[in-house]
Amino acid sequence: MISYHARWVLPVSSPPIHDGCVTVSHGRIVYVGSMSSAPTVEMRTFGNAVLMPGLVNTHTHLELTAMRGFLEDLAFRPWVLRLTKARSEVLTPQMMLASAIVAIAEGLQAGITTFAETTSSGVGHEALRTTGARGIVYQEVFGPHPDQVSDAMTGLTRHVAELRRADTPRVKTGVSPHAPYSVSDALFSAVADYTRAEELPVAVHIAESEAEVQLVKSGDGQFASAWRAREIPVDARAASPVTLLDKTGVLRTRPLLIHCVRVGGVDMTRMMDSGCGIAHCPASNAKLGHGIAPLHEMLQLGLQVGLGTDSVASNNRMDLLDEARLAVLLQRARLGSPDVLGSSRAIELATLGGARAIGLGREIGSLEVGKAADLAVFSLEGVRAVPAYDPAGALVYSVAGRAAKAVFVEGMELVREGQVRFDVEPMRRQVQDAGQALAKWLASATTS
Ligand SMILES: [Zn+2]
Repeated sequence: MISYHARWVLPVSSPPIHDGCVTVSHGRIVYVGSMSSAPTVEMRTFGNAVLMPGLVNTHTHLELTAMRGFLEDLAFRPWVLRLTKARSEVLTPQMMLASAIVAIAEGLQAGITTFAETTSSGVGHEALRTTGARGIVYQEVFGPHPDQVSDAMTGLTRHVAELRRADTPRVKTGVSPHAPYSVSDALFSAVADYTRAEELPVAVHIAESEAEVQLVKSGDGQFASAWRAREIPVDARAASPVTLLDKTGVLRTRPLLIHCVRVGGVDMTRMMDSGCGIAHCPASNAKLGHGIAPLHEMLQLGLQVGLGTDSVASNNRMDLLDEARLAVLLQRARLGSPDVLGSSRAIELATLGGARAIGLGREIGSLEVGKAADLAVFSLEGVRAVPAYDPAGALVYSVAGRAAKAVFVEGMELVREGQVRFDVEPMRRQVQDAGQALAKWLASATTS
């Protein structure tokens, strides 16, 4: 048993504790409270710091880290095309595994302990197990042509069976029917039936771009033209992307809905009724020019929202406190209001909100007796951090972007003094090599 002390303990589910203490035994939290009533056991102090639950990143593509900076300033469809083509032609499974481990190291250093990972290769599962982090690995499935359903489902069930055999208490398998522009209605329905029967968690990219909305609503736009060129049937499919998920049964799986930039009142009511979670990715949505999701309205309705970085191919960093900061700033800019989404609420989204959105709210996301000891510690010393009148405000507005002082997953210390405690350098070199291979591929693709 060991106790951790800090100037501030931020349980998230209860008010901040000044001069607080968290006691951990066998990977679980056994005490949260003031120093004066803490159990008398070995004590480690972090001093002038905030001790809080580990951050929950509700949307990543860990295997794409080699593509950081590789897709700048492209429109969405060329962006998707370059990404998928380069991934299949250049990146080997080993390069993607190295990318995933480097990404997890980056996330851990930013205080992230849980990763909701959507993946085509599945390497994120091994990367999470190797590094000791926590996560759900949603195996992606693609197939825009209705004739592809049978092959796609055969491939998916084989991949999922392989991943599931390696599941651990901290790393679980799920499924992601990728998005309306890459999945037919028939495949959405087949995946919904399969995941409900197998009780697998589901995540889906939805209502992200205007081109996606056009494809779904009217069978027009960039994605629709691309489908026609590939002789894929294109019809108006539903009144909105969220309605499409309702119609195909995906909403009945209580999915994690990634992005939700273009959702209206009717969509949000449907989402509310379904019990879904939402991965809000403000940096990715802004950088790709998709817009600003109606986060404030979703929260007013009581929807369960977490924050996500998305891949570093679109972000280009993995820093969830930074997403919290952006979430606040963008909502206030959008609504012209200085008091929507306070910093405490933003911290809640980055922790307990995210945990609930991915179905892990009983296990992680807050400092409570009985929960897993997934902890992050941020120093309030040094550049930008002092003075700190209020811990949540300090974290969101000034500490964001800095490395965590210490990070624990189920009581295991994975980051100490801002550095991960496993050797990530060989993986970083492999990611550098992968980057050179990608640059060479791009040069030959643009000259040929
Ligand atoms: Zn994504």
